Amino acid sequence: MIVFMKHTKSRKAILDILDNAGHPMNAMDILKADSSGTLTLSTIYRALGAFEQEGLVNKDVSSHTRDALYSIKEDEHGHVLECVKCHKKVHLNYCPFDEVNKEIEEKTGFELEDENHILYGVCADCREKK
Ligand SMILES: [Zn+2]
Ligand SMILES: [Zn+2]
Repeated sequence: MIVFMKHTKSRKAILDILDNAGHPMNAMDILKADSSGTLTLSTIYRALGAFEQEGLVNKDVSSHTRDALYSIKEDEHGHVLECVKCHKKVHLNYCPFDEVNKEIEEKTGFELEDENHILYGVCADCREKK
């Protein structure tokens, strides 16, 4: 029972960190954001795997860093922006691809159910720096 309680506590801590961050994080980001210092990387990986199966989080894999990025699943469909210089991630909470998706459906006859994009670019901070 005590083991179970502990487990629940760390799950809650991880979900809180993801929720408060408001942007996608990898396991290392979560570890660094853990102010209590009780989480370990293996706990985080295990919890994230479970969350993904339970449909609580979105997982995107960056093709630049190969990082698995997790974010709390929101009701609205959205996308991730990633800066190619500082690898900052920002969650875009709307879909800019609605028109494109419609066109794909018309051209291919596919009824699209899901799509998953990371958009790469240079963030405002990095653009200012150069
Ligand atoms: Zn940047
Ligand atoms: Zn979309």
